[in-house]
Amino acid sequence: MHEIEITGNVKSVSVFIGTGKCNGNCKHCAGLIHRKYAPDEDGVINKNLSDGDIYKILESCHYKGARSLSISSSGEPTLSPKSVTRLLELVDFLKSDQLKYNKINLYSNGIRIGEDEDFVKTYLSDWSLWGLSSVYITVHSADEKENAKIYGVPSYPSLRTIVSRIHNVGISARANVVLSKNSVGSLESFMNLVSQLKDIGFDNVSAWPVRNEDDKVDELLAPSKEEMEKICRFAVENSTNSFVIRVLGEEHHELYKTGQKLTLFPNGKLLNTWCNN
Ligand code: SF4
Repeated sequence: MHEIEITGNVKSVSVFIGTGKCNGNCKHCAGLIHRKYAPDEDGVINKNLSDGDIYKILESCHYKGARSLSISSSGEPTLSPKSVTRLLELVDFLKSDQLKYNKINLYSNGIRIGEDEDFVKTYLSDWSLWGLSSVYITVHSADEKENAKIYGVPSYPSLRTIVSRIHNVGISARANVVLSKNSVGSLESFMNLVSQLKDIGFDNVSAWPVRNEDDKVDELLAPSKEEMEKICRFAVENSTNSFVIRVLGEEHHELYKTGQKLTLFPNGKLLNTWCNN
């Protein structure tokens, strides 16, 4: 991992936005180490970079081939809606300069979308008009009580409500599943969860084995090699055009190492990594 100059081909870029506020309280929060750099005020995209700097970075990434943009946060991005809107406005300026990001994805824990209908009406529908194409919901289980436990909250909203609210404003919904022996650690549990997620209405599922603080697959918690092979085979055999199941392995991480996937962190650094700093 190192600060990177945009030299080679770039496939996608992620931008951390927002104040770092979160309505979840997970035991191991990957956003925590970035939070001290986050701006205090919603509406400021990055404390260390001007909007003009961010525009230039996104422009350079586009010149190098990036067509996919992810919006993430050191907290929960839906709690910093003005920052999300501001970034989407910048991306819209790029579009008017013929530099279009075809896919714009928002990572979310889904809590605000499921609990706050006014938020959905005020912001999510606008974001759809600004070009947001997909919301990625991190799903630990199809069971609300299980999700509440892992998110460390008293209750977690119904996934059906979350997905239907996303669909109602014309955005697709992807379930992101972290494969861990603590939640989904075998082929059987993965198959069960995928079937439930499909029934709930998710458009696709992406899954990857849990990683440790050194950004390597956590050998203790991740499913065994044999189970991972079975899970990968199941994903390939059951993926269709209308419901894509993807298991992201080391080759996906190679895209970071080779600088094809970049992340703009709250400290203002553009790095070829996802979670570490
Ligand atoms: S939902 Fe995400 S940002 Fe919030 S506490 Fe959990 S891991 Fe951290």
